[in-house]
Amino acid sequence: MNIHYPLSIINYPLSSLLTPQGRGAVASIRLRGEFDQLTHILTRHFHVRGKHSLGVIGDIRYGTWGRNHPEDVVVCRTNESNWEIHCHGGFVASDRILADLASSGVTVVPWHELLAVESGTLEAEFRQLLSQTTTLKTAGYVLRQANGLFAGAIRSLRDAIANGDNVAQCVERLRNLLKWSTFGRRLTQPAQVVIAGRPNVGKSSLINALLGYTRSIVYDQPGTTRDVVTAETAFDGWPVALSDTAGLHDTIDRLEQSGIERAREKLSTADCRIILLDRSQPLQDFDRQLLAEFPEAIVVAHKIDLPPTWDENQFAGRIDISSKTGEGIDHLIASIVERLFPELPSEDQAIPLTDRQCDILNKAGNFLQQNITFNSYKKLSELL
Ligand code: GDP
Repeated sequence: MNIHYPLSIINYPLSSLLTPQGRGAVASIRLRGEFDQLTHILTRHFHVRGKHSLGVIGDIRYGTWGRNHPEDVVVCRTNESNWEIHCHGGFVASDRILADLASSGVTVVPWHELLAVESGTLEAEFRQLLSQTTTLKTAGYVLRQANGLFAGAIRSLRDAIANGDNVAQCVERLRNLLKWSTFGRRLTQPAQVVIAGRPNVGKSSLINALLGYTRSIVYDQPGTTRDVVTAETAFDGWPVALSDTAGLHDTIDRLEQSGIERAREKLSTADCRIILLDRSQPLQDFDRQLLAEFPEAIVVAHKIDLPPTWDENQFAGRIDISSKTGEGIDHLIASIVERLFPELPSEDQAIPLTDRQCDILNKAGNFLQQNITFNSYKKLSELL
């Protein structure tokens, strides 16, 4: 998410759909710009019912939009620069109004870009991030940052730099913020958990067990018809995306090759890898190959409801589970959470949440380390 406008755009008439995509009774559009220009544009399309005037802040006006097939709308000037137009929900009415506004010279932008012009990039970023959170827990963390925790920390650090405080201490404060960057990103982007194993060890059955419901992803032909299946869920309030690398095994079939490559790529970029072994079958070369290739993966012995074929003591720290009976699934979930979130920040810890924020913090840190404190101060100011 990068929102950088030339200053000149701030004076252009802008408009955006405020209500989310999808079904709803009412759709709301915001129009922003100079009063005379907007009144001129609005009177071309909006016909007030009765003999009312337009333009007094707070006056709600009912009327119709357009001459052909007029659409019922409510229009209100909400402050010096903003108007709101409320029409029927769905896309047809709002698309038509936005198209009419665009034909009259209004630039139509997504809601968070309009917000960036009104309230600044940081505020727009936080609002957009909040809309992307999927659990109460992550929303709580993002909300605390949005309510001033992050901006407060940046302002305080910037002031310390301006006051000539000890540079090493300021660098340390920056490091302490950046330490939480992975955590921050995982609040709005699910951590990638990838389950690897040879065909028939029970990867899709395990995903079903972890999701708590049955998806129709169990195939008769082991591994041959699919590559990566992904499903999103949350463990203990933390968003995760589970992937099953079904196509990951040796083959001479060229058609399957692309699926295998995708599966390998998914595995190598995963935040947490699970190697699934079938304890009811003897270990095979492919199992050993996976274990050697990804030594840090969580090793899971599957199908423990069946008689075991290998040693109880093999693979210290492995987790025994059965997707059939549910045994060990809670333990596995706890281990995944522990891997992904080994340390949690305190409630008052400022956390960068986007690549843009981290990038600026990194650059400010580099300037600081070179003792170019003024540039560091300027960089941090970009965040406020
Ligand atoms: P995948 O090819 O690795 O995705 O494996 P599947 O999830 O399709 O499972 C392969 C077979 O193992 C299916 O017949 C499942 O019913 C069976 N299976 C999966 N998990 C278990 C388990 O925990 N216990 C037993 N007994 N069978 C299982």
